[in-house]
Amino acid sequence: MEMTPLADRFGRVATDLRVSLTDRCNLRCEYCMPAEGLDWLPTEDVLSDDEVVRLVTIGVERLGIREVRFTGGEPLVRRGLVGIVARTHALGVETSLTTNGLGLARTAAALADAGLDRVNVSIDSIRPETFAAVTRRDRLRDVVEGLAAAQDAGLGPVKLNAVLLRGVNDGQAPELLRWAIEHGYQLRFIEQMPLDAQHGWSRAEMVTADEIQRLLEKEFVLEPAEEPRGSAPAELFTVDGGPATVGIIASVSRPFCGDCDRVRLTADGQVRNCLFAREESDLRAAMRSGASDEELAQRWVTAMAGKRAGHGIDDPTFLQPDRPMSAIGG
Ligand code: SAM
Ligand code: SF4
Repeated sequence: MEMTPLADRFGRVATDLRVSLTDRCNLRCEYCMPAEGLDWLPTEDVLSDDEVVRLVTIGVERLGIREVRFTGGEPLVRRGLVGIVARTHALGVETSLTTNGLGLARTAAALADAGLDRVNVSIDSIRPETFAAVTRRDRLRDVVEGLAAAQDAGLGPVKLNAVLLRGVNDGQAPELLRWAIEHGYQLRFIEQMPLDAQHGWSRAEMVTADEIQRLLEKEFVLEPAEEPRGSAPAELFTVDGGPATVGIIASVSRPFCGDCDRVRLTADGQVRNCLFAREESDLRAAMRSGASDEELAQRWVTAMAGKRAGHGIDDPTFLQPDRPMSAIGG
């Protein structure tokens, strides 16, 4: 089959597909959604398992996708997850998952058997009360158990994602890193981005990558790690001479849009060429009205061609996307 790369006008080629499997979630992280949750997508709008797999297959077989990461919302609340993972793995691509870890203790082994390669688990604090303050749920224990199960199941190296909120958990950055290293997990801090449903983000409140580095350097010696960064968003540092490392993802203060190789598919079948895109391309409607694989691939190529050079968060004309991170797929 002929392969058409997902190229844009700036010479970037997308090979890394992020697929949101649901916009629903069992946590309510402050930086992501309001306490009462959101108006979830109507069930009939969410792609079926077969529809997800059809689009992923088109991405892999016709458009050069080499890596597929499932996310959400919370992907572990999606019933068909294990089957979707197995069918994706069978396409011969790297398959991974970004999850909050709730329920991972129960599913890690089945996911590994289905061919899942790796997991990224979000954890913003190792203190139960702070975890509950950030996520509005007292579920730290489930996450910790999920992490252990993932490691036991061979879904490693297990990566941790943490977002720091000023005055809430920023002071705990070093202890979170210490805990991660002790358990053999690779921690990465992510700058808070303007993607919350409540539009509460402010540049001044955000804990910047430089601040995160300084917070960690109060207790550790960090040195830039030598591995080439490529399109990986995390700036990697060795901790106290290594081999342990920590990543800092400066999405806002040092954007890496020029190296971006990502494309996103929302749970309701819309292609987004960027987290911050203001346009989407509707593959679901096309698919449900009978479009062929070739037609869907063509639409996808067109959607990518219009990708902007950068997210422009620092631009005075920046507008937050209409959909929050949980609906786009983080
Ligand atoms: N529910 C899963 C989880 O939390 O890992 C997957 C979806 S979540 C939207 C994916 C990642 O986005 C998480 O690591 C989360 O911490 C991060 N995230 C959510 N809102 C964010 C924001 N406003 N800024 C930066 N990262 C954010
Ligand atoms: Fe749920 Fe993930 Fe958003 Fe937290 S960051 S509310 S776990 S989707």
